[in-house]
Amino acid sequence: MPSCVIAAKCDGCKGQDKTACMYICPNNLMKLDRERMKAFNQEPEQCWECYSCVKICPQQAIEVRAYADIVPMGGAVIPMRASDSIMWTIKFRNGNVKRFKFPIRTTAEGSIDPYAGKPAADMSKLDQPGFFNTDGAMPVIAN
Ligand code: SF4
Ligand code: SF4
Repeated sequence: MPSCVIAAKCDGCKGQDKTACMYICPNNLMKLDRERMKAFNQEPEQCWECYSCVKICPQQAIEVRAYADIVPMGGAVIPMRASDSIMWTIKFRNGNVKRFKFPIRTTAEGSIDPYAGKPAADMSKLDQPGFFNTDGAMPVIAN
């Protein structure tokens, strides 16, 4: 189920050089139509369905749409992102609606320090084998 921009909600990230969805897409699929200031998924069939764009969009303007041959007649998956969770609303074609809420983080935004407790990297050793936190020694992998 590829992502699809809801044009009425998209504000083109207020005309920034690179919109949030363009920045996050690992497959470089999102484009901004600068005349209309609306983003769009330029190749839905190439979409990896990672939903990074869905989660990052500040306007909640990207939804997930199934191909018509799989979910015809109006089925939809609509995300609602909050700072610590995401709510998925599933609309079935018979009119049923179900909602699922999942946590998306357990720490405050920006609070993670991935290098905490590790030595500073020595850039002069970039060409040498090994890892910066093992002092040049290759890790031993036990069988
Ligand atoms: S991140 Fe959302 S608001 Fe920004 S350009 Fe993409 S779809 Fe539009
Ligand atoms: S779902 Fe993933 S691969 Fe597809 S357009 Fe969004 S960010 Fe790109």
